[in-house]
Amino acid sequence: KDVETYVIDMSFYTDLGEDGNDRMEILSIDEENKKAKVRVNAGTREDEFDTFLAENNLALQTVTAGGIFSMGGMTSNDVHGGSIRCGIFAETCSEFTFVTYDQNKGGVHEVSINSSNSDLETADGFHPIQFARVNLGCLGIVTSIVVDCDLRPHQESLQGRMAFVHVTLEQEFCYAFQDFCKHQRMECFYDPYKGGFLPLMWDLVDEFDTLGTKNDPPALTLDTEDHAIKQFYGAPLQGIFFRKGGPLDFIESLAEGSMAGSQYLEGTYRVGKKGAEFFVKTAMSNIATSQVAAAFTAYSEAWLQDAARCVFMSYFVKLPNLEEEGLAKTYQLLQVVTKLVNEPKNFHIAGPMEFRFVKGGTSANAGTYCPDDPDATFVNLDLIAFTSAGEGNKDPVRYPKKLLQFMADVEREWFGAGGLPHQGKMYGFYDPQGAEGNCCPPFNANFVQEVRSQRDQSALTAFNTF
Ligand SMILES: Cc1cc2nc3c(=O)[nH]c(=O)nc-3n(C[C@H](O)[C@H](O)[C@H](O)COP(=O)(O)OP(=O)(O)OC[C@H]3O[C@@H](n4cnc5c(N)ncnc54)[C@H](O)[C@@H]3O)c2cc1C
Repeated sequence: KDVETYVIDMSFYTDLGEDGNDRMEILSIDEENKKAKVRVNAGTREDEFDTFLAENNLALQTVTAGGIFSMGGMTSNDVHGGSIRCGIFAETCSEFTFVTYDQNKGGVHEVSINSSNSDLETADGFHPIQFARVNLGCLGIVTSIVVDCDLRPHQESLQGRMAFVHVTLEQEFCYAFQDFCKHQRMECFYDPYKGGFLPLMWDLVDEFDTLGTKNDPPALTLDTEDHAIKQFYGAPLQGIFFRKGGPLDFIESLAEGSMAGSQYLEGTYRVGKKGAEFFVKTAMSNIATSQVAAAFTAYSEAWLQDAARCVFMSYFVKLPNLEEEGLAKTYQLLQVVTKLVNEPKNFHIAGPMEFRFVKGGTSANAGTYCPDDPDATFVNLDLIAFTSAGEGNKDPVRYPKKLLQFMADVEREWFGAGGLPHQGKMYGFYDPQGAEGNCCPPFNANFVQEVRSQRDQSALTAFNTF
């Protein structure tokens, strides 16, 4: 048979520890500087790795919401967490081992790229670690990664906070967020109908270095291999009222259909955008009550317990700073969505928006690439929309026109503001060479080309050469 695509499941790949049967090993712990290095195999899920670290009084420097992804998937693109003074996840990794192919080097062979090995620097002045981080799967199969970690002596060392503010003025937003951004990690949900902001904040503090409760993370129901055996990748599907797959699943299916439907109700029924508003409110309260409460109780940052089937678009936009000016820009970027969803007869999002702040870095393919300004802050803006379940609805060509138009209208503004898309989500909902105001299914070829032209050309050329 002509096979064009192979899927390699890395869940079972282990080559660490004395006998090569482990998927995680601690390389070093520097008590004085409170830093550690831990090697992990690429197929390992983030939640299993996070649990291993907590058991060993360590912590990741930045954490995605859910812990449901593989380390290889998280470092192959610009995945990030809510650590304000830290770059994307891949920037916290200092070594990558690949299995790759080169006829001149004897065919299939192993290569390790370590950030501190300066001999590796390429002729054009780049270090290969800049390509290994956010490698887009182009450099071969990543088998292991060294992750730089923090020390977390006790459970209480990681302190979680949650707040809720209702904001109607840009100035009010700046005032509130100057305070929230004093925390080390912040992830915020936004209800564009009511102006409600739900920031979740975490700090790794010194106060509990000598006293506190022993780190004892809850045992995982399924580890990386268990998930693979069950052919279960990703997060459990979220229920609006009841968990998917549970005894009341039939009610859930009805609710899921009405959630997707609520995005289009304006002008059709008297209910208007109230349906979508209801689902945003329900999701925010679900995050605040059951999901985050469970994470706080376990002294964990991985709050996402389950996830909905959705279309995800995410942009990184560079800010002038994380003070009034930068926060005002963030507010204006959020208002692009606020304005559109509140317009009559428009598309109405039925899930909250989300944003996080992240530092710039040197990874050539990241939306946060800015080697000359290491202290730069980026805002990452996340937008979700729901599509109906079922095979027939999966293909983006079948996404409703209103959904595509909405995504395109937001994207025009965010891309126009100098933003670059997150490589692990959807983008390209319009054709920059098409008619004014057009929209189309994601990954439009002309748009992808336009994104390429906006990236740093020397970094792009150096990556291609490498
Ligand atoms: C519910 C949900 C929540 C999310 N939350 C966040 C978030 O908080 N922050 C964020 O930044 N993103 C988030 N994302 C996006 C997500 O983190 C990325 O899409 C991530 O890349 C998925 O990882 P994966 O393990 O599923 O990778 P896959 O989808 O399996 O792979 C992604 C890419 O990496 C390549 N790859 C994977 N493993 C290897 C390897 N070993 N060697 C070489 N190439 C490899 C694949 O070929 C593919 O090109 C979220 C997505 C969803 C659906």
